[in-house]
Amino acid sequence: MFVTPFRYARARSFAEACELLRSEPAPAIPIAGGQSLLPMVNLGLVEPATVVDLGGVREARQIVAEDGYLRIGALARHADLERDELVRTRQPLLADAVRWIGSPRVRARGTVGGSIAHADPVAEIPLAMTVLGASYELRDGAQARTVGASDFHLGPFTTARAPEELVAEIRVPVLGPGWGWGFTEVSPRLGDFAIVAAAALVRVVDGRIVEARAGLSGVAGRPIRIGAVEVRVEGARAEDLEDRVGEPEGLEPIDDEVASAEYRRQLARVLLVRALRRAVERAGGSGR
Ligand SMILES: Cc1cc2nc3c(=O)[nH]c(=O)nc-3n(C[C@H](O)[C@H](O)[C@H](O)COP(=O)(O)OP(=O)(O)OC[C@H]3O[C@@H](n4cnc5c(N)ncnc54)[C@H](O)[C@@H]3O)c2cc1C
Repeated sequence: MFVTPFRYARARSFAEACELLRSEPAPAIPIAGGQSLLPMVNLGLVEPATVVDLGGVREARQIVAEDGYLRIGALARHADLERDELVRTRQPLLADAVRWIGSPRVRARGTVGGSIAHADPVAEIPLAMTVLGASYELRDGAQARTVGASDFHLGPFTTARAPEELVAEIRVPVLGPGWGWGFTEVSPRLGDFAIVAAAALVRVVDGRIVEARAGLSGVAGRPIRIGAVEVRVEGARAEDLEDRVGEPEGLEPIDDEVASAEYRRQLARVLLVRALRRAVERAGGSGR
């Protein structure tokens, strides 16, 4: 049951959606897969006067490879990333990350752009995008700007997006040879939101890490890269990772009814080691 009735308008292009967001009774709010927005409307946390449906923006579901990047339309669904051959072969960290989202039903409806715009602090896609160094194209009518994932995600459910801007496309650098990837998380039950999640990318030469990227969600208000750990693991073999990861810096975990701050810190250490080991293994090193 919806708490308040609202108007419904369906857009066929991003330009038309921006126009409707301005011209329809306010607040006018975009909807993509509805997997986050509709529960919030049902709970009375959001009260739109108009919902502008992006589902008719057909071209925005495409995934193409171009100039060393994957260009992913914001309306691509989680299940599209899970199955798409380009994503699985050129940026498998992303295909891995989305498998942890909710259930097959949620993944069949939820969109990449919706997850990015919603900015849940423990959502898998923003964490993967932050570690991958992805950027987002934001559109407002004919105007477009590009914002890096690390600059876009500002805090819990808070982003650099203006209300009338739409997330239109996501650009993700493709994985080169010699790189491996790992994504893992712990949640209260299978399919629940993560308590803490970790993502890692490593380039390995002769069994040793020569370049690393590592990030966490669930230990700050937004997904973060752990730069000091990335530096410390350079030169490491799989068996050195536990010592090299040590105490990850810059964590600000909260205490709540789901988990204590100390438990989240402990998970952060353990999951970073696991994600890095898996990445080393996939890069051809001897991860366990
Ligand atoms: C039972 C259940 C379990 C879930 N578990 C997880 C989980 O484990 N991990 C996880 O990450 N998520 C989870 N989700 C959320 C799910 O992944 C959502 O699909 C996702 O967060 C939002 O995508 P959506 O397309 O459904 O967005 P919507 O619900 O349509 O929109 C979400 C927000 O983003 C805005 N928006 C949508 N698209 C755009 C756009 N292109 N540009 C600008 N703003 C836009 C909307 O206005 C709204 O504010 C779960 C949801 C459910 C119902």
